[in-house]
Amino acid sequence: MSPPSPSGTGNPDLVRRAAGAVIGSAVGDALGAPFEFGPAGAFSGRFPASEPSSEMRGGGGWDAGEATDDTQMAVLVAESLLERHGLDLPDMFTRFQRWAAADPKDIGLQTEDVLTNGLPWDRAAAHHFRTNRRAAGNGSLMRATTSAVYFARGGREATMDAARRIAALTHGDPAAWEGTALFHELVRVALGGADPLAALPAALALVHPDHRDRYATVLADDWHPDQATQFNGAVWPCLGSAVWAVRTTTSYEDAVRAAVDLGGDTDTVAAVAGGLAGAFYGVDAIPGRWTAPLHVPLPGFDGRVLRAPDLSDLARRLAS
Ligand SMILES: [Mg+2]
Repeated sequence: MSPPSPSGTGNPDLVRRAAGAVIGSAVGDALGAPFEFGPAGAFSGRFPASEPSSEMRGGGGWDAGEATDDTQMAVLVAESLLERHGLDLPDMFTRFQRWAAADPKDIGLQTEDVLTNGLPWDRAAAHHFRTNRRAAGNGSLMRATTSAVYFARGGREATMDAARRIAALTHGDPAAWEGTALFHELVRVALGGADPLAALPAALALVHPDHRDRYATVLADDWHPDQATQFNGAVWPCLGSAVWAVRTTTSYEDAVRAAVDLGGDTDTVAAVAGGLAGAFYGVDAIPGRWTAPLHVPLPGFDGRVLRAPDLSDLARRLAS
């Protein structure tokens, strides 16, 4: 990756980067959705990089430009933070439950179980983890861009702590908390105009020791998604793959293309990569042919559908 601005000032506009993060994640989600669970290279096979076209065509049950549960939940997180003027975990959980009860097109198996098992907000995810012992999906990481923008102002430790607490609403496995905390910190650094990859060692030092080595492995400079030992629906390879996509490309567009081309959980890997790349390159780097058809339905919330200008407004409020 390289700095997007020829000015070299290293002092870009926070609002432009915040909008880049929020819209960038949503665009990655919508671009990746039709390719979910497909093979590597399917996106570039259908849409060669040398021939830019209207890649937002939909498919697999998704309309062109339609964002999935990743972005829908990120919007719920954002609206709770803004309307409650900070972290109100019971309120956020209630919004998640209202959404889950409205039968969204897509919802993670674990998230659905936690939101519908009838237990209160501070016990539902822990109960699921105790019962299943498998709770390190990428479902808390996928929705973290909005909270990462909101908590960036608090500094490294505060944003990582907030990430863990929001992740714990649906994910009882501390591995998911730590991966989400790392993402929050990388976005914070990018919003400030610095290179998030250079901040990885300092961020890893704040990861719980039980989980640090595993994240250090997937975030290493020479790690490649082919080396993943699990499906990228798990939190470790998802974060590692998203960071790899940003590290090995030099534009927002190429980062998201690389993420979708990995195959597997394409909407989420691209949502995570797109959030980080959007924070780094800024909203102006996101192609208009991708933002124009973008829309985010919000099941359970009176038929509301957010479009790019709505996400831009949300990002501005989160950052200010
Ligand atoms: Mg999704």
